[in-house]
Amino acid sequence: MNKQKPVDQLTIEEATHEVKELSLQVEEWGREYYEKDNPSVEDYVYDQAYQRLVTLEQIFPELQSPDSPTQQVGAATISDFAKVEHQNPMLSMGDVFSVAELMDFNERLQRNGVDHPEYNLELKIDGLAISLMYENGKFVQGSTRGDGRIGEDITKNLKKIKSIPQTLTQPITIEVRGECYMPKEAFAKLNEQRESQGLPVFANPRNAAAGSLRQLDPQVTANRELSTFMYYVPDYQTLGVTTQSEALTALVKLGFNVNLNNQVATTKEEIADYINGYTQKRNDLEYGIDGIVEKVNDLALQEELGSTVKVPRWEIAYKFPPEEAATVVREIEWTVGRTGTVTPTAVMDPVLLAGTTVARASLHNPDYLQQKDVRIGDTVYLHKAGDIIPEISTVELDKRPADSVEYEIPTRCPECDSKLVHLDEEVALRCINPMCPAQIKEGLAHFASRNAMNIDGLGPRILEQLFERKMITDVADLYHLTKAQLLTLDKFGDKSADNLLTAIDNSRHNSLERLLFGLGIRHVGAKAARLIAAQFKNIEALMNASSEEIASVEAIGPIIGDSVVTYFNNTQVHELIQELQNAHVNTEYLGTATEVKEGPLTGQKVVLTGKLIEMTRPQAQEWLETQGADVVGSVSKKTNLVIAGSDAGSKLAKAQSLGIEVWNEEQFRAAMKEDS
Ligand code: NAD
Repeated sequence: MNKQKPVDQLTIEEATHEVKELSLQVEEWGREYYEKDNPSVEDYVYDQAYQRLVTLEQIFPELQSPDSPTQQVGAATISDFAKVEHQNPMLSMGDVFSVAELMDFNERLQRNGVDHPEYNLELKIDGLAISLMYENGKFVQGSTRGDGRIGEDITKNLKKIKSIPQTLTQPITIEVRGECYMPKEAFAKLNEQRESQGLPVFANPRNAAAGSLRQLDPQVTANRELSTFMYYVPDYQTLGVTTQSEALTALVKLGFNVNLNNQVATTKEEIADYINGYTQKRNDLEYGIDGIVEKVNDLALQEELGSTVKVPRWEIAYKFPPEEAATVVREIEWTVGRTGTVTPTAVMDPVLLAGTTVARASLHNPDYLQQKDVRIGDTVYLHKAGDIIPEISTVELDKRPADSVEYEIPTRCPECDSKLVHLDEEVALRCINPMCPAQIKEGLAHFASRNAMNIDGLGPRILEQLFERKMITDVADLYHLTKAQLLTLDKFGDKSADNLLTAIDNSRHNSLERLLFGLGIRHVGAKAARLIAAQFKNIEALMNASSEEIASVEAIGPIIGDSVVTYFNNTQVHELIQELQNAHVNTEYLGTATEVKEGPLTGQKVVLTGKLIEMTRPQAQEWLETQGADVVGSVSKKTNLVIAGSDAGSKLAKAQSLGIEVWNEEQFRAAMKEDS
């Protein structure tokens, strides 16, 4: 493939050859991306290849075949889902990579007789397109885009997404389209979890959302914290609106989540300002955006302009340039997690990337490391997956030192020297020695952590000393620690010893769900632990339960059921539980995880949105829960209060349109202060 040569200088033979090769390559990348939700190259690599193919086909039109990827939307559906034929095709979108190209697009529109149109500018949400059908106001069917003509029926999964209304505020029959996405925080959490479970990570929130939505078990979708922004109604007359911006407001009134950061613009300056503004602000948004969409605002004019086989003529996407930074890899560090997964991390010269200084990037697992062929001394380009997780995109091979050697994957645990293994179908390398000190220490830290037994003051530094000095070997030993022992620790005085002993003592009275989560049973997160504890009430009942009984708890599936049974089917675990009970650690469910105070917020449905400056979201949520508030994810008529930090988006707008009380962070802190 002669990529360097300008297209207009190619001979027809060279062009034929390149079109053939590029089409195959783009098709293969498309299959990996659309069907498997697992791309093998960065989006901009795909975009460059795609653009080259477009240019080749423009200059050599005789080489364009109807099967070319430039003439197809997405990919054909080959999954096990039932097929849905779209009443109106779900198209792709043209894209440009600079404001100048965007202005060319606008000028072309004007040359085609569209006189100074008004544009509606919207954020291009990094998710996947969905179509929702409502009959007489009831949600009846939802689907993916598929190849634009035929999509997959994912109704059951979409029913698990809270922001999708099951019933509209009006009994109308309508198709509504929009984007299903995974918020940045949920994406980071999911990848962290997958990495620790030895599973491959998702490349970006779009693939994570698609992978989570295209699941045959709707419960998996339910656990993935997906959300939606709806933005399009093919039959706009049903809504009685004439512009795209009005359509968005009408969708809010029907009960949909809508991204109301849109803006109507007419001049080049307004458009450039909007783009520049969001180029700056995108890192602060709670969801990923990969560009800006410019749409002709007049819906009748949109209809008149129509579309090509692949893209509407009335809209175009401006794609943000990839944010990258180059640095040098100095070391590859291997850390052993709580479940024995051994994870490589590249340690690099610190570099500023999209607003933060980055010096470390996970290399996830040996396969990933080898695929990228990262070596010590390599100059690498970093980007942030989903605008949040630093990742190595590529190695700059031209700068590779002459004496560079391929990185050798360790075969023994860096902590206990046991032989490392690959378990069935896992990409991770694992240390399976149950006595591996790294795993035990991680397990102890997890047990003491905030969402588990919440033992304040028992951080990794202290645990390390307690463990190294053999004062503790498992979690039950914590309850036998004495003041005399604690006083031997570094910088430990009378007061810190007393405080720690009190914190340990307090943890004896935690409700069962904290203990269950703290034990670190595979797949049992804090939420699953709470649901299981509420159902079985005490640890004996849970230990006697079958996998099916556990799996039948609402929102718990067979994977967790099997994992819990396997965990308790072990004499060492029985002994540990006995030891904990002997040490008077509570193993009963006490009704609620936190002590609830009766007050004005008790029983109120509260939504947190935007960025809080002086506290984290979990802290805010925890305090609200202690007040008996029900913290929910989306705004509806039933919401009583919205707490909006900075840069709050559609949830705030929706609250305002529904007349719901809104507090800013200052008002929220004042309420907290009154309580303290
Ligand atoms: P696209 O994702 O670039 O744009 C069209 C989509 O934008 C729509 O279908 C819709 O889902 C979405 N969208 C988000 N916000 C929107 C809004 N406010 N209004 C309207 N639509 C909105 O186009 P595509 O055809 O789905 O995918 C092409 C892109 O996918 C490429 O540009 C490339 O970056 C990526 N891709 C990457 C690979 C890879 O291997 N890395 C492979 C294939 C495709």
